[in-house]
Amino acid sequence: MFQDITTLLLDPKAFKDTIDLFVERYRDQNISVVAGVEARGFIFGPPIALAIGAKFVPMRKPKKLPGPVISEEYSLEYGTDKIEMHVGVVQAGERALIIDDLIATGGTLSAAIRLLERVEVQVVECACVIELPELKGRERLGDKALFVLVNGS
Ligand code: 5GP
Repeated sequence: MFQDITTLLLDPKAFKDTIDLFVERYRDQNISVVAGVEARGFIFGPPIALAIGAKFVPMRKPKKLPGPVISEEYSLEYGTDKIEMHVGVVQAGERALIIDDLIATGGTLSAAIRLLERVEVQVVECACVIELPELKGRERLGDKALFVLVNGS
């Protein structure tokens, strides 16, 4: 069953409360990068980035970003996929939050972590609105912290 976050966006108070929960958690953590995973990380990431004074970095599906990119592959149930980030948009030593709407198997977020760590950015935490705990995505993130608002099982 697909967990649809677009209904949350129709309720301005619920949407704002959701953003505020993340902002409360991350505002005093010296985070300079909010990396949002395509596509629904692009909905939650920018308002959080603006509120905590960080830049927003899109992590996109292959061949969408116009400039030079670095990419990371991850495995799906059948086959593989990739996410990409522009070269030069983050600097070694920066502190990042990675945001997406949902974690299922954790493949996407684990690739996002590898992308940032390859360029020596410190991933402070990954954050999602929804976790599907039965898919054990959290385990795929290793020792990286994951913060979620809702258990979607
Ligand atoms: P994972 O890589 O953890 O298996 O899958 C997570 C990615 O797939 C996220 O980018 C998320 O947006 C998308 N995704 C997978 N299943 C769902 C779902 O049920 N609802 C939503 N909104 N996104 C999903």
